[in-house]
Amino acid sequence: MIRFLVAAAGAAAIASAAEATVQKPLLAPWTGPYGGVPPFDMVRVEHFKPALEAAMAEQLAEVDKIANDPAAPSFENTLAALERSGRTLDRVGTIYGIYSNTMSTPDFQKVEEEMAPKLAAFSDQITQNEKLFKRIAAVYDARETGKLTPEQKRLAWLDYTNFVRAGAKLDPAAKKRLSEINQRLAALYTKFSQNLLADETDYVLFLDKESDLAGLPGSLRTAAAAAAEQRGQNGKWAILNTRSSMEPFLTYSDRRDLREKVWRTYYSRGDHGDAKDNNAIISEILKLRAERAKLLGFQTHAHWRLENSMAGTPERAMELMEAVWKPAVARVREEVADMQAVADKEGAKIKIEPWDYRYYAEKVRKAKYDLDQNEVKPYLQLEKLREGMFWVAGQLFGFNFSPVDGVPVYNPDMRVYKVTDPSGKLVGLWYFDPYARPGKQSGAWMNAYRNQERFDRDITTIVSNNTNFVKGKPGEPILISWDDANALFHEFGHALHGLNSNVSYPSLSGTAVARDYVEFPSQILERWLSTPEVLNRFALHYQTGKPIPPELVQRIERAATFNQGFATVEYLASALIDMKLHLAGDQTIDPDAFERNTLKALGMPSEIVMRHRTPQFSHAFSSDAYSAGYYSYLWSDTLSADAWEAFTEAGGPYDRAVAKRLRDAVFSAGNTVDPADAYRAFRGRDPGIAALMRKRGFPIEQGGAAARPPDPPLASSAAAK
Ligand SMILES: [Zn+2]
Repeated sequence: MIRFLVAAAGAAAIASAAEATVQKPLLAPWTGPYGGVPPFDMVRVEHFKPALEAAMAEQLAEVDKIANDPAAPSFENTLAALERSGRTLDRVGTIYGIYSNTMSTPDFQKVEEEMAPKLAAFSDQITQNEKLFKRIAAVYDARETGKLTPEQKRLAWLDYTNFVRAGAKLDPAAKKRLSEINQRLAALYTKFSQNLLADETDYVLFLDKESDLAGLPGSLRTAAAAAAEQRGQNGKWAILNTRSSMEPFLTYSDRRDLREKVWRTYYSRGDHGDAKDNNAIISEILKLRAERAKLLGFQTHAHWRLENSMAGTPERAMELMEAVWKPAVARVREEVADMQAVADKEGAKIKIEPWDYRYYAEKVRKAKYDLDQNEVKPYLQLEKLREGMFWVAGQLFGFNFSPVDGVPVYNPDMRVYKVTDPSGKLVGLWYFDPYARPGKQSGAWMNAYRNQERFDRDITTIVSNNTNFVKGKPGEPILISWDDANALFHEFGHALHGLNSNVSYPSLSGTAVARDYVEFPSQILERWLSTPEVLNRFALHYQTGKPIPPELVQRIERAATFNQGFATVEYLASALIDMKLHLAGDQTIDPDAFERNTLKALGMPSEIVMRHRTPQFSHAFSSDAYSAGYYSYLWSDTLSADAWEAFTEAGGPYDRAVAKRLRDAVFSAGNTVDPADAYRAFRGRDPGIAALMRKRGFPIEQGGAAARPPDPPLASSAAAK
């Protein structure tokens, strides 16, 4: 996932002179090495409000100047000028967003509650500026007659489209209502996230008996003991209410009663019927989104969201999801039958329930593929894998990573690396914030602190990766699961998308691409984790230092499509609910009932729960960014599976020519080209879904009929020209 600042800001009051001194560290240009770095050491929570207000006021003044320019509108005096504006707010907003994601303390949350609606109103004030929109439209209309470069034409298209999509063409009454809706939504998104964070932080299961740990491997016990100690409960073991804690516990705990308890706590986040319950918030969000879509001339929120995506319409996204859903559910039936057989053989006298799935899947994995995740884990040291990612970046893109000191960080566990190209030239900085802690959102994500650009001068990027590994005891290596290793590579893929960026304008830079395309670079990077080149060099046993044995690697490869029924159904259930909630129009929705009824109609296997149940579905309800957009992971994975075969069809994962094409057409292009064109430039053709089905081990043809072409194309609509 990648995270964005909730688009900037509000009815700006000029800050008082007294406030001007405290907010200074946030407002000042970033200084220091590497083209300047964020001044994390100087920032205080009380700086945010006055700094955001001053920065919004500054940008409004800049925009007014552009809108009221007496000269005829040109690319230079309008669009390039807009690219130059808002620099202060960019910087303040970046640090504000970092606090929101990683240091969400009660005093920061108060600031956020106040500022979120103001930032939404500010954003509308710019997109609803009529004089400004007229100038943008004039440049856009004349884009073919002027002497614009292809990238400048793309920026003209993007700015024009974004303004129209934000309501620039509406009448004053509709604009006013739109802005009210956006402000209310911003407040609801903040509340949704804060509720979820509270349920993740406040519910900790403390275990105090050795017998409660039955089945848990040593590394998990160590991590759980450290987590308890950090919470002042020495001698106990803490199971946190996060995915990184929940998943391994459900995989290994022999204690069915505790598995059920951990499962219920995790999947009840935001759904406790208490003050932090998210259901009413979701109902209101859905209503407001439906009303906004209507105002903007779209049938539903989903239609509005997908208009500028690669898929183009909800129908195309649904078509792909439905093509994969049936074979995935069929595979789940087989997986459950395998698991039930193991349970019966053990004399467990149970019917597989959702809290049993991971546990028995592990036993089947052992029985069928002779593969024990615990056998793999001692080879998966966090720091070695990080070195492995760096090595891959060197092989594919020629990047070199080296640690730097003296750059301010917001947490002592955070590390900073400088990235250079083969000539030694600075490419950017990579910040790594690895560990879970109170106030940090769960999951893993990439975030850009500064985008690459070069239209006035060369500005290098600053990107970060954020994960929630449980911090071990000092000096002990942190062992992570295979899934977490994949997530690590995934987020690093987003970081490399930012680091490779080679564009002129910041609005088109790095990961600023269509939502269903942005996961393509990150998902394809996951594939290099399991290459022998990485495993032999970096999957080293934490005690012996010996590389993972080749026969174990072979067993991992043989089990590559194992449990894909579970993984696909768990994900697709969330993606389908997300889309259907946003196709439902303006009816009043009770999220729990909608989820229950829709899953029943879909034929959801009772042994699986959605990866993100509705009350905890951050992708859909913590901002607009991934709303009606969770399908994007499947869409992008279709691209990544197809693209990976370009490597395997050529000289393998490290084929220089294919890597160069991937870099030139995809990783460095940002949003300067239409994603469908970019993909064709890389692959020489449109993507199809056959590679995805092969990757997941699903049959490509159903019913054996040859009625469908062997590789149905996944062409994009004409949306984003
Ligand atoms: Zn991602």
